[in-house]
Amino acid sequence: MPSQAESAVANHHVAAVDRLATGFALRRFEPELEAEYRDFSYRSYRQTRRVAICLLLASFLAFFTFDLLLLYSVGANPITLPVMLVRLCALLIIVFAAYRVLKSPDVATGYRWIPIGLGCLSLGMLLVTLIYHEGLEQMQLPYGLEGMMLIQIVIFVPIGYSYRNSLYLGIATLLCTGLALQLTSSGESPIQYLTSLAYLTLATIAAATAGYCQEHSMRVLFLTKRDLRTMADTDGLTQLYNRRSFDLLLQRALQEALREQTRIALIMLDLDHFKAYNDYYGHPAGDLALQRIAGVLASHPRRDLDFAARLGGEEFALVLRNPDSAYLASTCESIRRKISDELAIEHLKNPAQVMTASLGASFSNASDTTASLYQRADLALYRAKASGRNRVEID
Ligand code: GH3
Ligand code: MG
Ligand code: MG
Repeated sequence: MPSQAESAVANHHVAAVDRLATGFALRRFEPELEAEYRDFSYRSYRQTRRVAICLLLASFLAFFTFDLLLLYSVGANPITLPVMLVRLCALLIIVFAAYRVLKSPDVATGYRWIPIGLGCLSLGMLLVTLIYHEGLEQMQLPYGLEGMMLIQIVIFVPIGYSYRNSLYLGIATLLCTGLALQLTSSGESPIQYLTSLAYLTLATIAAATAGYCQEHSMRVLFLTKRDLRTMADTDGLTQLYNRRSFDLLLQRALQEALREQTRIALIMLDLDHFKAYNDYYGHPAGDLALQRIAGVLASHPRRDLDFAARLGGEEFALVLRNPDSAYLASTCESIRRKISDELAIEHLKNPAQVMTASLGASFSNASDTTASLYQRADLALYRAKASGRNRVEID
């Protein structure tokens, strides 16, 4: 369901379409939309996160095996013990971070612990690389930056965590690796050192590009889904909830009222002599009038979870949760007065000379269905019409 404030839905819709048209590179959406996107993306990658954590733990096992194989093939050496210790520390922090992420579905937890886990993975691998670099050089064995390349790929794997932060972490990893190798490779030929670093840079760019494309697609998917939902739930002319949403929301509100032993009120509003208005002023003027009436309903002060809808034609509805009789009466009267006195749209074919509306309202009772409540409110509206229009009837 879209947000309660229909005008806000309209603004969001326009903002979303704008973003879609201009592309958004590394830009974020405006804060409210960005928070919604993060939540959407984090939920969407839930399964991927689980698989990624399993793969990460499996690769740790593989790396431990590799370290043991080295010990087996070259015998006692100064590398294996410190490497195993570094890997173990990294593993402990990563397992803790993974535990926090898996245990809480909350996006804030993920945004805190995923970077900590990845940062620790990256730092651990850098230390291991340096230890291998030093040790293998002494043993006259070749070494490489394959481990760091893997890390760069892992950093950009989409798991619902911010791409921007992945990028910061990827760049920091690349710079730290370059700097650390520069400081430690005194006797090494610069060509070997530069080649290794060039491969690492290319791997980082490739992973970052793939990550960027994925992030972009995810944002497009988010906006598209959001727009489709808005289109399905709201009325195109007024941006109020449409009939379909009204039926669902009324059903939900009635069920909640029954459960909590409270009541709701359904207000039906129908414009007076609107056909004559259309005939005299033209259909486009009629549309504009409908939009202005919708504006009155959307901006009318109301409590959380109250909602307005356009039921079709020039008929609207407003549902209030748990109002008392005085509040219902004053709400109906205030809407009627706003339309006739404040909007005061000229309507020479209406005896009042301005656009007016008739309102009928009814409280729900314990045995109501949506149909019976609707029928009572509609009968009240009919009475308001029959007794002269531009008035309120409460059942
Ligand atoms: P009453 O006071 O008894 O309610 O009379 P009325 O003329 O308002 O009622 P009626 O149901 O006869 O006419 C409703 C009119 O609403 C008919 C149609 O021209 C107009 N209408 C329905 N949907 C739209 C719309 O989307 N845009 C415009 N401009 N007019 C619409
Ligand atoms: Mg009418
Ligand atoms: Mg009507």
